[in-house]
Amino acid sequence: MTFHSFLIKYGEIGIKGKNRYLFEDALVRQMRHALKDVDGEFNVHKAQGRVYVDCEGEYDYEETVESLKRVFGIVGICPVVKLEDQGFEQLKKDVVAYVDEMYPDKNQTFKVEARRSRKNYPLNSMEMNCDLGEVLLETFPELKVDVHKPDLMIHVEVRDHFIYLYSEIIPGAGGMPVGTNGKAMLLLSGGIDSPVAGYMVSKRGVGLEATYFHAPPYTSERAKEKVVDLARLVSKYSGPIKLNIVNFTDIQLYIYEKCPHEELTIIMRRYMMMIAEHFAKESGCLGLITGESIGQVASQTMQSLAATNEVCTLPVYRPLIGFDKQEIVDVALKIDTYETSILPFEDCCTIFVAKHPVTKPNIERIKKSETHLQEKIDELFDEAIQSVETMIVK
Ligand code: ATP
Ligand code: MG
Repeated sequence: MTFHSFLIKYGEIGIKGKNRYLFEDALVRQMRHALKDVDGEFNVHKAQGRVYVDCEGEYDYEETVESLKRVFGIVGICPVVKLEDQGFEQLKKDVVAYVDEMYPDKNQTFKVEARRSRKNYPLNSMEMNCDLGEVLLETFPELKVDVHKPDLMIHVEVRDHFIYLYSEIIPGAGGMPVGTNGKAMLLLSGGIDSPVAGYMVSKRGVGLEATYFHAPPYTSERAKEKVVDLARLVSKYSGPIKLNIVNFTDIQLYIYEKCPHEELTIIMRRYMMMIAEHFAKESGCLGLITGESIGQVASQTMQSLAATNEVCTLPVYRPLIGFDKQEIVDVALKIDTYETSILPFEDCCTIFVAKHPVTKPNIERIKKSETHLQEKIDELFDEAIQSVETMIVK
């Protein structure tokens, strides 16, 4: 079957009223971006309260659908056959041929749902439903009508120049189009969790920036490449990500030298948050995002999270907070980051880990330990910020 167009269904909730056009414009923009590298020529446009992708000439159907499935804000993608209006008798034949090709198994219930945006068509919608239903029943005796819960809903839409035929709805990513809800700074590591966290916040319409802390020579170039790859995979959903790569080695060594080893991870995490927040504020991000989940590791107990949170002034979004590891893995598999995340490269946090990290850090005690850093930490903080290597990942 050759489809000439896609009708895009998007969530109605939250888009009514005067902001609707903002939502639709952002959706169109994100769809154009998603289709930019797909083989074919596409015209993404709004018409009569709908969004369509018209495909001009040859195009790669699978790739087109896969790309549209990654656009937040789309709940359904309907492949459309566009017919020239050559009279109702011809339409009957076309609808029969369509059903025959689309559904080799005719043991199904159906309903015809006609709609006319061109009101001068010789039949009204009710008449079209009846006549088309009748010819389908005559041609395929195994088909049955069910007007309440049909297996197949055959949509026939009479528009200005063409008649649109569609029945399949491919589920979309849901959520809100990126760009309708500001942007946030993702603390992106090479693990399983943070790419999923970025995906989840972006799904609500939030653009992403990211910060990665590496510790050369303790972490390799390959570990960094892995994070760039992860950012690229997330950007297939979120759109381009500005990625800041920060050299954290000197801060990490200094903390290692001056602070109790069981507090290392917490103190490191606090400095990561402060540096990420610096870049977040610099570029207008409205919050930070991490992949933390309560109790997953020592640095993610309620006390540890409180200690990490304490240095931040921006809101910290932790979309995985109530997820079990398997639930996070399931999303990572769905969005295709899992295979990259599990590649075995060292993480800057795991190199200096203590054997027995505190699980219930006391904020006052942590702050006291941090006073041992007084002498050089401001300078190292500034150097870390200046060390930043920035790239746009897409
Ligand atoms: P992940 O799978 O996302 O690496 P994790 O289970 O390994 O998470 P932690 O290492 O405690 O957990 O990190 C918690 C969160 O802190 C991460 O989800 C991420 O948001 C942030 N983070 C940790 N290490 C780094 C890093 N090297 N660079 C940037 N952010 C980091
Ligand atoms: Mg990690």
